[in-house]
Amino acid sequence: RMLKRQMQCRLDIDRLNAAFLAIYESLVPPEEETAKQKQFFMLLEKLVSKEWPEARLYLYGSCANSFGVSKSDIDVCLTIEDAEINKSEVLLKLADILQADNLQNVQALTRARVPIVKLMDPVTGISCDICLNNVLAVVNTKLLRDYAQIDVRLRQLAFIVKHWAKSRGVNATYQGTLSSYAYVLMCIHFLQQRRPAILPCLQEMGTTYSAIVDDIRCAYFDQVEKLRGFGSRNKETIAQLVWAFFNYWAYRHDYANGVISVRTGSMLSKREKDWTRRIGNDRHLICIEDPFEISHDLGRVVDKFSIKVLREEFERAAEIMQYDPNPCVTLFEPY
Ligand code: ATP
Ligand code: MG
Repeated sequence: RMLKRQMQCRLDIDRLNAAFLAIYESLVPPEEETAKQKQFFMLLEKLVSKEWPEARLYLYGSCANSFGVSKSDIDVCLTIEDAEINKSEVLLKLADILQADNLQNVQALTRARVPIVKLMDPVTGISCDICLNNVLAVVNTKLLRDYAQIDVRLRQLAFIVKHWAKSRGVNATYQGTLSSYAYVLMCIHFLQQRRPAILPCLQEMGTTYSAIVDDIRCAYFDQVEKLRGFGSRNKETIAQLVWAFFNYWAYRHDYANGVISVRTGSMLSKREKDWTRRIGNDRHLICIEDPFEISHDLGRVVDKFSIKVLREEFERAAEIMQYDPNPCVTLFEPY
C-alpha cells in the first residue's frame, strides 16, 4: 500500500512537471518572431548610422537576455561616445529621423527618469523603446544571457516566475512591486544556492570578460560554453524548483537582515551594505543587490504597503504548490 502511495505521488509530480514545461514552451517566442525583431533592429541601425556614423545600437532587456516571453516589446540602447552631446537634443533628432521613415507613434520622452524615444513599426507591429548611453543595462543583459546558457532550468524557472508575477500584478515598479530584472536575479541567486548548486557564481571566477562602464568595473567569467553541465549533479525538476522558490520567499528568507547577491553567490547582511535605515525613499524591505551597481538595491521601490502584497503573494504561491490539486492553473489566476 505504501509503495502504491509513493508511486502515485511520483506520478503526480511527473504530471505537474510536464504541465510546467508545457507552460514554459508556450511562453517561449517562436523563431519567426525573433527573426522579425532582428530585421526591425537592422532597419533602425541603418537609419541611425546615416545620421551618426560612429554611433552603435544594442538590444538589451528581455529581447536580448533570453528571458523574453512571446510578444514582448524590444528595448534598444543607442550609444554615442561624444561626451559633449546634449541627450535631449539627440533624442529629439532621433525622433525626427524615425518619424520621417514612417515609423508610428513616435514620442520623445526627454523628461522621464530614463529618457527614451518610443515608437511602433507598422510593418511588424513591434513596439520599441530607445534609450541613450545606458551601457550598464547592455552589460547586465549579457550577464543574464550568459547565466541562461549554463542550465536550462534557469530559463524555465524565470519564465514561470515572470508569468506568475505578471498574472498576479506584482511586476510593476511604479506600484512598488518588482521589475522583471529583479525576479530574474532572484532566480539566479536561488539556483546558485541549491545543493548541489545548479548555477556557479560567474563574478567570482577568473575574468574572461571585462568592461568599465560609468566608472564601474564589470568583470566575470563569460566562457559559459565550458560550464554546460555544471548543475547536472543536481537532479531537481522544474516542479520541485518552483515549489522551493516560492517556499523560500514565503517562509525562509530573512527579510529583516538578508541581502541576496548574485555577484558573490551568497547572502549578505543589510548591516555590511549599510542598508539598515531608510534613506530618502529607499526602505530596503526586500534587498536585491545589483550585480554591477552594487550600491543599488533593486528592492528599493518596495514600500511598507507593497511589501505586504508581495509577501502575501509569495505565501499564496507556496500554499498552492503545497496543497492545490491543480497548481498550474491556480498559480496564474488573475488577481
Ligand atoms: P519584460 O519581459 O518584463 O519586459 P525585461 O527583461 O525587459 O522584462 P525590465 O525590468 O523591463 O525587464 O528591464 C529591462 C532591462 O533594463 C533589464 O534587462 C536591465 O538590463 C535593465 N534594468 C531594468 N531595471 C533596472 C534597474 N533597476 N537597474 C539596472 N538595470 C535595470
Ligand atoms: Mg522590457
